[in-house]
Amino acid sequence: MKPGNRFEKRPREAKVPNDMVLIPTTAGMRCRLADEKRKRLRIEEPFLIPSRGLFILSTYVEERHFGISLIDRTQGLSFKKARKESFGLIELKQVTKRYGKGTKTTEALSGLNLSIKKGEIFGVIGHSGAGKSTLIRCMNLLERPTSGEVWVDGVDLTKLGKQQLQTKRREIGMIFQHFNLLSSATVYDNIAFPLRLAHVDKAKIANKVNELLQLVGLEDHRDKYPAQLSGGQKQRVGIARALASDPQVLLCDEATSALDPQTTDSILKLLLDINQKFNLTIVLITHEMHVIQSICDRVAVIHQGGIVEEGAVAEVFLKPQHPVTREFILGEAGESAQLALQAPHDGSSKLCKLTFLGEKTYDSILSRTARETGVDFAILQGTISKIKDIPYGQLIVRLEGESGPIEETIRKVRDEGLDVEVYD
Ligand code: ADP
Repeated sequence: MKPGNRFEKRPREAKVPNDMVLIPTTAGMRCRLADEKRKRLRIEEPFLIPSRGLFILSTYVEERHFGISLIDRTQGLSFKKARKESFGLIELKQVTKRYGKGTKTTEALSGLNLSIKKGEIFGVIGHSGAGKSTLIRCMNLLERPTSGEVWVDGVDLTKLGKQQLQTKRREIGMIFQHFNLLSSATVYDNIAFPLRLAHVDKAKIANKVNELLQLVGLEDHRDKYPAQLSGGQKQRVGIARALASDPQVLLCDEATSALDPQTTDSILKLLLDINQKFNLTIVLITHEMHVIQSICDRVAVIHQGGIVEEGAVAEVFLKPQHPVTREFILGEAGESAQLALQAPHDGSSKLCKLTFLGEKTYDSILSRTARETGVDFAILQGTISKIKDIPYGQLIVRLEGESGPIEETIRKVRDEGLDVEVYD
């Protein structure tokens, strides 16, 4: 059977069973699957997803089983939806970018892979020179990768001609650290600019610009010039201009780095509102963990042109693995945490870091458990904060008592849903 036919014939609303996943494959890989493993798994014939390649539908497998990249667990979505949701709206595949020629080249990105889902706010954090700007500029091909693919909503931008790329770019808005506004044009004209370029008629432009002025809260400033605006207001113009052509994606290149903390927060709140109102996918690059913590759903840490850690913000934030991630997260709280971890402890005490997430943050789990087990505790350091709108708390404590009751305390608080890291 030809793989393509199978997909085309599948009824539109056919369900992917709950226990099935979509796995990208190649004919070669299917052969490898054909042997012993295939007997244990329910694997259907491969099918072709146009411009994406060959896929199989399989019972749940883990990547390590086959050394392949598993796309997503589809959880009984309609096939069409599953197909859409299984692929990122933006997918970078093996993207490498080298600047310069001959012996004087700099590799800013080295075979980088990234998948960003529709509707999420995705943050990329890294130190200066890590490759953040290059990465975000590759997403709309302002910077053309030396090799690799850049997919946006099912289209590989690197394969488009000049005209097609220009059209596709309307789906990808962008804002910049230094706003990049036209200094000789008013707020209104700055926002109207991309629509005029696209030959939209005057009445439609007026409607759209007024709508956007309202959205970003600049109705009273429409006739002002950029020089008459504050930094925050200029960035609001930037956002309105980027949204003028109803993009699917908004790329933010260090969009709050030139702003004071209060203005930063108001811009982040605006981005979050826009994301929620329009289900707009937002990708931002930053060197500030605060930005990631305030609005992002997922984060990737970039270092020397590659992603060294990636995941849900709460996961990465609360259990950083890579040294670079740890540096970003420890920040100011790091010094007091380091001091707390230097507290003396011996056979009759244990140093632990407890992490509370969500509603548990406000729960008296530790004191309740210690009362039950008869263990004492000294609080050495504590923080409470939020990741997006989820509260979390971290406590470094020294548990004091016999080793049996200490072990029981740790087990009980873990059972109550706290994460406990024990230090030797
Ligand atoms: P970041 O945004 O994280 O500071 P960049 O993407 O700007 O990092 O830069 C990554 C690396 O690529 C750096 O070593 C930088 O010097 C180099 N680089 C960036 N742009 C250019 C360019 N136009 N020409 C040469 N090297 C560049």
